[in-house]
Amino acid sequence: CGIVGYIGYRNVCDVLLDGLKRLEYRGYDSAGIAINDGNEIEIIKEVGKVSDLERIVANVAPKGKQGIGHTRWATHGGVTTVNAHPHSDEYKRFVLAHNGIIENYHELKEALAAEGFTFISQTDTEVIAHLLSKIYDGDMLKALTSLQDQLRGSYALAIMDREDKNHIYCMRKGSPLVLGIGEGESLCASDIPAILPYTRKVMYMDDGEIAQLSSQGIKVWDAKGTPIQKKSFFIDWDL
Ligand code: GLU
Repeated sequence: CGIVGYIGYRNVCDVLLDGLKRLEYRGYDSAGIAINDGNEIEIIKEVGKVSDLERIVANVAPKGKQGIGHTRWATHGGVTTVNAHPHSDEYKRFVLAHNGIIENYHELKEALAAEGFTFISQTDTEVIAHLLSKIYDGDMLKALTSLQDQLRGSYALAIMDREDKNHIYCMRKGSPLVLGIGEGESLCASDIPAILPYTRKVMYMDDGEIAQLSSQGIKVWDAKGTPIQKKSFFIDWDL
């Protein structure tokens, strides 16, 4: 299972597919990408290999500079296209990729369903998207700190907001996530090989941290929403 996210100047589709291939060693049963084309977020996902996804993507050829990709190792919900990531809220506004397990997903899902939220997948992940759309009141950092308070379990998350083409948000607890700081571009990924073709400057996210990626750089906050200065590392090995 793996996550890759990119914002910058390149054709994001190529970056995501390449990144997912570099994470294939982690194991997975399905793969998907989400790309903001400037109007909406296009989600393409499929059971099978990244090369299967690639064939479908070639027909659609989504264009954009901001996107996230995921390889899924199913834990909650069968291996189906609907259960593959990325997932979104009902309005396809908040779109996210998740590695890990949300332990309290069942109670969250019941509460959200009782409030009228409609679920289309069997995953634990989909509750995160609905919960975020419920909590969000215009301030993403505030929404994500509140989301962290409500989620139990493990997660690495890459999140896009259709109404915010300039940022990708990340947070993690118990699942790995590395940030890549490039020139005019930023990345996130489960592991360094997906980042290395673009930059050697990385930061390792720690549990509870929230990151905001833009083409200008990366900002990080702690679980309470206080800005923090993180140490970056230079990767001097090659793939
Ligand atoms: N628990 C999520 C699912 O089953 C994410 C699995 C993963 O880490 O790939 O969809």
